[in-house]
Formats: sequence, structure tokens, C-alpha cells
Amino acid sequence: MKDIRNDIAACTLCAERFAATETAHAPRPVVWFAPGARILIAGQAPGMRVHQSGRPFTDPSGDRLRDWLGLDEDTFYDRRRVAIVPMAFCFPGYDAKGSDLPPPPICAETWRDAAMRMLEKVDLTLVIGGYAMRYHLGRKRPVTEAVQAWRSHGEELFVLPHPSWRNTGWLKKNPWFEREVLPRLRARVAEVLA
Ligand code: SF4
Repeated sequence: MKDIRNDIAACTLCAERFAATETAHAPRPVVWFAPGARILIAGQAPGMRVHQSGRPFTDPSGDRLRDWLGLDEDTFYDRRRVAIVPMAFCFPGYDAKGSDLPPPPICAETWRDAAMRMLEKVDLTLVIGGYAMRYHLGRKRPVTEAVQAWRSHGEELFVLPHPSWRNTGWLKKNPWFEREVLPRLRARVAEVLA
């Protein structure tokens, strides 16, 4: 197994693509995993705040996600226990309307399989977003349908809605998520990290 973390951290494959975005930023890969991690958080791509901090989920989404998982910050940020590997390691930038651009496919094509090989001890994968669904489930499904099918994914994978404040309406419309999914998710996280 090759340790590719330094290679990812030095990657500038998307330099031209990012320079052409509204944000005109340079690549800053946020590499947050280590061999031996038991939980994988497979998200979409860092946002602007994470691009600036260099640390994943340093925003209100992170507070909500930690609450969903029942994890304190020390455990959440312990890379030997929790790997945070989005479908692109860099902030993709904003489009002309100020919306986040999608993760550049070249990132997963270049790095993801090798990163997954470093994470062979993962027992629980948390999938957030359509791009991660395609990679980890083999297809994209509507979020509500995929989250609601949690029992059919077994104990090793949960699909989650994005923990962003933008999804507060979704959480209100789907109270079964907090009532049924979160207690089982928290219990599973505790089991895996025990
Ligand atoms: S998004 Fe991925 S492929 Fe693109 S520069 Fe960052 S690490 Fe490299």
C-alpha cells in the first residue's frame, strides 16, 4: 500500500481550472485521513471556509455533523479514527452566481481508489452528496430516497443529507431522520470506535 498523502497535498492538477473560477484561487488540498481509520466520511468537496482553514468541517455544518454522529471535536478530528475524504480534496470555487462549483472529476479519477486502499480498516462509511453516492453506491439516487433506505445499506454504510443549514427545511420535512436514523447512526459510530 502506497502512502499517497504527501502526493495529494502537493497536487496542482486543477490550478488552471481554479484560476478560471470567480474565486480565482490556487489549489489547496485538504488531506485528512490516516491508515487505520474506522469511519470514512465521504463528502463532496471543501467549501471556502475549509479552503481557508485547511481543516474539514470547520463551520456550522461540522457542528451539526458532529452532533449527528455523537462525536466531540477531538474524536472527530482524530484522523486515525475518522477519515474525511471528499470527492475532491480542494475547494472547487464559485460560479458567476456565487454558488459552489461541483468537485472536478479528475480528483476522484486520480486519487480516490488509492486513498481507499489506504483505508482498508474502515467499518462505517458515511456518504454525503450525489458524487459520493455514485462512487460508493454505484449510482446516484434522490437524497431522500437514499437516506430513507438506510436499513437496506446494512451496518457499513449510511447515506446522509448534507448537514448544511440549507437542509434545515429538509430535516423539518423528514422528522423520521432524527427519530429513526440518528439513534442507530450514533450507536453504530460508538460501536465502530469502541
Ligand atoms: S482537486 Fe484534487 S486533482 Fe484538483 S488540484 Fe486538488 S487535489 Fe489535485
